[in-house]
Amino acid sequence: MKLAEFTDKHNAFREEVREFAKKELLSESTQIDRKGEFPWHIINKIKERGWLGVPFPEKYGGLGLDTTSYIILVEEIARVCASTAIMIAAHVSLACQPLYAHGTEEQKEKYLIPLACGEKVGSFGLTEANAGSDAGATETTVKLIGDKWIINGNKRFITNGTIADIIVFTASQDRTKKTHGISAFIVEKGTKGYEAGKEEDKMGLRGSITSELHFEDCELPKENLLGEEYEGFKVFMETLDGGRISIGVLALGIAQGALDYGIKYAQEHDLNGKPLYKFQWVQKIVADAATEIMAARHLIYHAAMLKDKGEKRITEEGAIAKLYASEIATRVCYKLHSILGEDGLTRKYPMERFLRDTKLMEIGEGTSEIQRIVIARQILGK
Ligand SMILES: Cc1cc2nc3c(=O)[nH]c(=O)nc-3n(C[C@H](O)[C@H](O)[C@H](O)COP(=O)(O)OP(=O)(O)OC[C@H]3O[C@@H](n4cnc5c(N)ncnc54)[C@H](O)[C@@H]3O)c2cc1C
Repeated sequence: MKLAEFTDKHNAFREEVREFAKKELLSESTQIDRKGEFPWHIINKIKERGWLGVPFPEKYGGLGLDTTSYIILVEEIARVCASTAIMIAAHVSLACQPLYAHGTEEQKEKYLIPLACGEKVGSFGLTEANAGSDAGATETTVKLIGDKWIINGNKRFITNGTIADIIVFTASQDRTKKTHGISAFIVEKGTKGYEAGKEEDKMGLRGSITSELHFEDCELPKENLLGEEYEGFKVFMETLDGGRISIGVLALGIAQGALDYGIKYAQEHDLNGKPLYKFQWVQKIVADAATEIMAARHLIYHAAMLKDKGEKRITEEGAIAKLYASEIATRVCYKLHSILGEDGLTRKYPMERFLRDTKLMEIGEGTSEIQRIVIARQILGK
């Protein structure tokens, strides 16, 4: 579990989060999934600890820790409840991070501080019905009329959508320019012409919220532009560099949670009178899972630590870590599931939840196909 590069501070923070997850979340995670309700009571406890702003400086409402600490937080929470972990990941890496990296001092004061303190919830709206993998096809439009931005369009599959108070989103100023026509903006819940829409009924991450966002002649003041005009693509590409490590570590946490449970089950159950863990086929599944999880852990924390060392872009490292972690997580959950035999098919055991939750990790923030394109471009050139 321990990597050579972790400091004592990282190890102590991991212990603190793990203890919290064991005490406050473990007994709740099945119900969170079963009810499909957003776990406000847990998020409120997370907020009290300052964990919704882990990697941001204290002057912006954060805890002033590093990216590695934030990644540790998401891993340990996802290990127990991925629905709770994805809320944190979307809030921190998709909403707070672009505000921190591209916001003006006024925007940081107004939006980042309440988000990082956990007083408000954030989300990030990029995906549309015809613009997922191909963000250049963004159909949400923005026009500057007088001193107001007028936004029209729809987003979908937005994590924290209906509960978000502050939303960072993209819109096109000139659709003929594709990615070069996109700008990024900030909208607040309650703004006239903006509304969150229908929530998705998902197969996994059922306690998290994923919804549509609608803009109909939504008026935003000029100062709600985030970053420079026509640089929205750059804003979200940078955001996704970090976001991919978040999704990768969510996958890692889910895989580790499945392994924890597979080991427990194998130690507590027999097959034809012989303890399960004594069977060679069970030992192989566990050993292979532990190996793949450890390899994924190295890739994820390597990317996080590069960021902590001041590396501006971690496109290749983030995409490799996300691709590998999300694909091994699906494989590991699927294989570990067979240790439970028919029990794995019942909802009495959490293994089926791990299997359902992990699938999103191969889709969100760029599918595996898109990660391969990103990696190949980095290596081979465009
Ligand atoms: C639970 C959940 C939470 C999400 N949260 C957010 C969020 O907070 N904010 C946000 O903006 N989005 C969010 N998303 C959206 C997510 O990022 C997109 O689903 C993802 O980027 C894929 O886009 P798409 O669904 O439109 O698929 P499409 O782009 O329509 O792709 C469909 C299929 O075609 C493949 N494909 C597409 N283009 C290529 C290509 N060039 N080469 C090879 N294969 C290709 C894809 O890999 C995929 O298998 C979320 C999605 C889910 C499921």
